[in-house]
Amino acid sequence: MKIRHIPFIPLLFLVHTAGAQTPADRQKVENLLRQMTIDEKIGQMTQVTLGVVSTPQDGVLDPAALAKAIGEYKVGSILNVTNHALMAEQWRTVQTQIQDEAKKTRLKIPVIYGLDGIHGQTYTLDATLFPQNIGMAAARDPEIVAAAAKVTAKELRASGVRWNFAPVLDCGRQPLWSRFPETYGEDVYIGKTFGVTAIKAYEEDGLKNPTAVASCMKHYLAYSASRTGKDRTPIYLPEIEMREYYLPQFRAAVKAGASTLMVNSSEINGTPVHASKYLLTDVLRTELGFQGVIVSDWEDIIRLHTRHNVASTPRAAVVLAVNAGVDMSMVPTDFSFFILLKEAVQKGEVSLSRIDDAVRRILLLKAKVGLFDNPYPETASAGNFGRPEYQQLALRAAHEAMTLLKNDEDILPLRTGMHLLVAGPAARSISALNGCWSYTWQGKEEQWYPAGSKTIYDALADKFGADHVTTTAAAGFTSAANYDTTALKAAAAGADALVLCLGENAYAESPGTIGDLALPDDQKALARAAASTGKPVIFVLTEGRPRFITDIAPLAKGILLAYWSGRKAAEAISDVLAGDYNPDGRLPYSYPRSSGEMVLYDRKPTEDIREIFNSDMTMDGYKPMWPFGWGLSYTHFDYSDLRLSGPVLSGAGKLTVSITVKNSGSRDGKHTVELYTRQHYASITPNMRRLRAFKKIFLKAGESQTVSFMLDRDDLAFVNAAQKTVTEPGDFDVYIGDKKAGFVLAP
Ligand code: BGC
Repeated sequence: MKIRHIPFIPLLFLVHTAGAQTPADRQKVENLLRQMTIDEKIGQMTQVTLGVVSTPQDGVLDPAALAKAIGEYKVGSILNVTNHALMAEQWRTVQTQIQDEAKKTRLKIPVIYGLDGIHGQTYTLDATLFPQNIGMAAARDPEIVAAAAKVTAKELRASGVRWNFAPVLDCGRQPLWSRFPETYGEDVYIGKTFGVTAIKAYEEDGLKNPTAVASCMKHYLAYSASRTGKDRTPIYLPEIEMREYYLPQFRAAVKAGASTLMVNSSEINGTPVHASKYLLTDVLRTELGFQGVIVSDWEDIIRLHTRHNVASTPRAAVVLAVNAGVDMSMVPTDFSFFILLKEAVQKGEVSLSRIDDAVRRILLLKAKVGLFDNPYPETASAGNFGRPEYQQLALRAAHEAMTLLKNDEDILPLRTGMHLLVAGPAARSISALNGCWSYTWQGKEEQWYPAGSKTIYDALADKFGADHVTTTAAAGFTSAANYDTTALKAAAAGADALVLCLGENAYAESPGTIGDLALPDDQKALARAAASTGKPVIFVLTEGRPRFITDIAPLAKGILLAYWSGRKAAEAISDVLAGDYNPDGRLPYSYPRSSGEMVLYDRKPTEDIREIFNSDMTMDGYKPMWPFGWGLSYTHFDYSDLRLSGPVLSGAGKLTVSITVKNSGSRDGKHTVELYTRQHYASITPNMRRLRAFKKIFLKAGESQTVSFMLDRDDLAFVNAAQKTVTEPGDFDVYIGDKKAGFVLAP
């Protein structure tokens, strides 16, 4: 039976019901459920990786293995990974063959395929890559987040893939964590805003539409809060902190209609999240009202037995996870989950109703994404891959991410006609501009990057002329030549300025674990060598997380933080250095000074005060290298006239806060206006500042604009000692730029 297409639904409605199922979908699913055997049901809950069904040759399916997975084990879902990127067309073939196999089964239930389109479509040659989320957060531009997510959705769908394992909603409050670049940084409001924006863009056209994909909010919950900063290691988190800083993003994402959710691979307070009925069922299902599919992360169910040691047998691990609320197991390299879950059901350790509940959600997801209508890559989607306008968008996103940290004596922009020496490990590296999930998982293998991808050296040579730009760097981040201080000093003789490209090469997940945030010594030696030449030095930092540069920062006159900004990162860097783009990125985290100075911007009063002894104190408890929200421009923005619509915010009322911003410099530029609040006294120690709203504007030189924000009481809420989200009446300050005003929240 065919399911009807969703009739035209006004966009506004879709925004709140992204990917909602139709009554016909529900009917279809109930009909199927009634017919399914236990094997067919358990198969739907099983997800395996592509390697299980393909030959050692990437992208070539093994018919016997495919028949075994789908025919014998009734596997309902497959995910990446191949060892390298495939062409979009190859992906379409892979999807077609998989669905052909599914068609041979008794009930012909299509397979749903998932990929990690974290900053653009992954594992696909020539896909468009945008800045990582950390760069998107620096750009502070929801329009860009939405547009980039839409392109990602289109390119995924053009490859026949309808499920994206994104966005990452983990709050980046631990900079050591190797997945920090995948986060939107340390602030809850930015994470919530951009997470919701991305989800709506992935799903907004209705998931049957060949430009949309199901989103997957991840990794629930507090994955980023590992105590040591090492990936997949224990989190110790009081409930109040969990609810204040890590849960709101998921609450907002559920409300926005996210279709699926992936579980945090680690443990919180000794309970692995995959085994936490409290978090998966009580909080997520009951409190947040999440109706979609809960998928495990990679191999995480069996690890309840093999690594976390909370299940004494593999079957006990399966029982624990499924009963806690996991619907689908990313097994992903064998069929053990299928076998063990079947045994568990036969022994009555997992109820049939729990199985039906999980399978119903999975089938509804398949119905929502239109797989029952047409499981094959749609003809209409094919043309949505690799369109030229996507590159323009990637450039705009990279431009907006660029964050100028330092610009002494206006060394930047560099004057035309200057001779530049470009050096350092990132000078001729493409992977260091892109980072994780770039054509491959780790993003390190440069042979899979598109032909014509530029390095910083290439882009600067294009800009200033090849005869004006020399380099001591060799291709690739790790080449010995990149660390040769003697060569660097010798080559500096003919240069007017040195552009030193430092930072991190690509990494993803556990391989990115480090023991020290300090920039490696060999890179610091380059900085010292550069400074010793007496020529002005500019650092360009391509890094996924903030590496300490405290001791070498004084050696540079200019510092540009470029993050990992994707396919057009090099062009964006050279545009900023040459003054063809006026930088407007703002730090999405507090750039730390040292391991003893890791205070975040939304610190508590006692973190802001440094007691010397007795009552002597200074207010310098928050002293990062550069604070959250920092970012210089080639022009100046002045603030005046901060006004509130009234002195009191009461009941369900709203407070309008407005401010006039003037571009008082001589260049046009974009600028993000940020509104922070502080409550003077509350039953729980109030934060010194919380970001409540922001708006990005564009002002021509000399132009002014009045920017307005609306606050209501919910914007001022916090989690109290009883773990409830509340507001408490009292005095508040509101800060915008260097201006401050006060208001009272009435009881
Ligand atoms: C990661 C997930 C990812 C999954 C599938 C895991 O190792 O933690 O974020 O979605 O692999 O690639």
